[in-house]
Amino acid sequence: MSNANRYTGLVDRYRDRLPVSATTRAISLNEGNTPLIKLENIPRMIGKDVEIYVKYEGLNPTGSFKDRGMTMAVTKAVEEGSKAIICASTGNTSASAAAYAARAGIKAFVLIPEGKIAMGKMAQAMMYGAITMQIRGNFDDGMRLVKEVADQAPVTIVNSINPYRLQGQKTIAYEIVDALGRAPDYHCLPVGNAGNITAHWMGYTEAVADTAQFEQVIYDAATDAFTGPKPEGRPVMVGYQASGAAPFLRGAPVEQPETVATAIRIGNPQSWNHAKAVVKESSGWFDELTDTEILEAQRLLSMYEGIFCEPASAASVGGAIRDIKAGKIAEGSVIVCTVTGNGLKDPDTAIKQCEDAVMLSIDATMQDVRSSILSNM
Ligand SMILES: *Cc1c(COP(=O)(O)O)cnc(C)c1O
Repeated sequence: MSNANRYTGLVDRYRDRLPVSATTRAISLNEGNTPLIKLENIPRMIGKDVEIYVKYEGLNPTGSFKDRGMTMAVTKAVEEGSKAIICASTGNTSASAAAYAARAGIKAFVLIPEGKIAMGKMAQAMMYGAITMQIRGNFDDGMRLVKEVADQAPVTIVNSINPYRLQGQKTIAYEIVDALGRAPDYHCLPVGNAGNITAHWMGYTEAVADTAQFEQVIYDAATDAFTGPKPEGRPVMVGYQASGAAPFLRGAPVEQPETVATAIRIGNPQSWNHAKAVVKESSGWFDELTDTEILEAQRLLSMYEGIFCEPASAASVGGAIRDIKAGKIAEGSVIVCTVTGNGLKDPDTAIKQCEDAVMLSIDATMQDVRSSILSNM
């Protein structure tokens, strides 16, 4: 039987544009290749002539875009002989690290903020067999500890300060350019640690560049800019934060970040300079959404498009809608929003905000079922 057309994940798919060799063994769960879904109802509702697409990263193997980075980070860790990986996480990185470690047959240690991660993510880390440390502190405390302990124990950090993470994550832009035949005019996404906005920009630059030879783009701290070509046709990058965890809006780290969008409950982004450079080079901007606005966008996307994402992910669409309505994003534009994680990750927050949902309790009779239908048509 021929397997020639079987999709086997993004390391195999993009081997020539990733820092792997022809013989590197990919540790993969067939991540990537996610759908780019055109919104049908929301643009009509807001009454503006725009094309909005969501890149639904919640359909990755562990339910978030983190899998794109993790396949690369774990592939390289294994290639380099590492027997254990470690990360600090608001939930999705730990779920992904745990899964890819299981796949590779190595150990995963994860540090998560006690009581502040969504139920589904907790279940994942446990099921995949990670050694989970719940810390009495937030993500930023965990990140500091992970950086320190990596010098004192034989573990590979797989947070996005691991450069292979961003190499994997940049492939999202390749897929979008493939699907649209061009880059969008605007790309909107939620920003926490700011690795993903950085990876998107690297990917777009590489995908749009019209160079004879592939040229890898990275952030260069010495010049505080990205290396490589500066092609026309890259999108304006827009990053949205939660108001309670919006260091880019405050212009400084936030000591006690707080938001219902736990995936972006981060006060001290590790890719601070990178993300600032992205916004500058792309003539983009950062903005913030309140928790109420984030949850409204989450509900809107579910109820009017059938796309259920976690709260953090909805910041992209909520922010885009606001900026389209305000005219900051012009009519006639093509907009892509990264919908970073699956709504099933956080059922508690979803159910809590659906108190007004129609949930009838009836007798098991045809009469009751029938009248329930007729009175709700
Ligand atoms: C990690 C994560 C983010 C934030 O991405 P950064 O690279 O940290 O900016 C947003 N949404 C979800 C669902 C995430 O898991």
